[in-house]
Amino acid sequence: MVFATHMNVALKEAEAAGARGEVPVGAALALDGKVIARAGNRCRELNDPTAHAEVLVIREACKTLSKERLEGAELYVTLEPCPMCAAAISAARVARLYYGASDAKSGGVEQGPRVFEHAQCHHVPEVYSGIGATASKALLEAFFTARRSKP
Ligand SMILES: [Zn+2]
Repeated sequence: MVFATHMNVALKEAEAAGARGEVPVGAALALDGKVIARAGNRCRELNDPTAHAEVLVIREACKTLSKERLEGAELYVTLEPCPMCAAAISAARVARLYYGASDAKSGGVEQGPRVFEHAQCHHVPEVYSGIGATASKALLEAFFTARRSKP
């Protein structure tokens, strides 16, 4: 099977999230090489601190498949998942996690709590980082620069 990245879909969702005034993070969930769910952050819109892109695509994919687990699924996220999302990714049994930029402030995968390294983490996905990281970082930097320059 030829590896096809769906990070471009996640980046489009991140851009759309930024345009809505949300922190520009996007995610896409693929099964058998096909994207079955895509989302950007919607915390502000939904008044929901758990409405991170990763949580939204996991919910949508589970609903679509009428399943509580996503065995074999691939998740593409533009930014390193936070601890909450890392726990959700593990609970959903996502097979492979691809993410873009690392997140020194809120990341929970390769820094901070390193959720997947805990003995209590019962499912550990394969993790590939740095995919589309430059584009992802540029989006975030532009968003926060614009927000800081507002009076
Ligand atoms: Zn998160």
